[in-house]
Amino acid sequence: MSDTVFHKIIRREIPADIVFEDEHLIAFRDISPQAPVHVLFVPKQTVATLNDLEPSQAETVGRLVTAAAAYAKREGFADDGYRVVMNCNGNGGQTVFQIHLHLLAGAPLGGFGT
Ligand code: C5P
Repeated sequence: MSDTVFHKIIRREIPADIVFEDEHLIAFRDISPQAPVHVLFVPKQTVATLNDLEPSQAETVGRLVTAAAAYAKREGFADDGYRVVMNCNGNGGQTVFQIHLHLLAGAPLGGFGT
């Protein structure tokens, strides 16, 4: 499955609240936020799951992380803290099969399983 809802957002075929974009990635607010700040960072290069990521594509994920950190600094919540999450396949809770990084912030997020 190479075409996903995120590809459609990248192509502007469906709307999204886009907060950042460059030649490598796009970032938009999650439609179903799980924290006061919940932004998704999605590469433009198609990679369905983390299992499909080749070592030569490490920069693709690196760019998601650095873009999320830069966004946190720009928006002024970097020092308060935030969480980044990438889900993989069923047990990881992945529902859209184009890799993406969740940036969650704006409140204490608790520990895993809480
Ligand atoms: O990691 P996972 O695949 O579960 O995350 C997919 C995320 O994409 C969900 O948090 C969902 O709310 C979000 N989404 C979105 N806009 C869409 C479809 C899904 O923000 N149009």
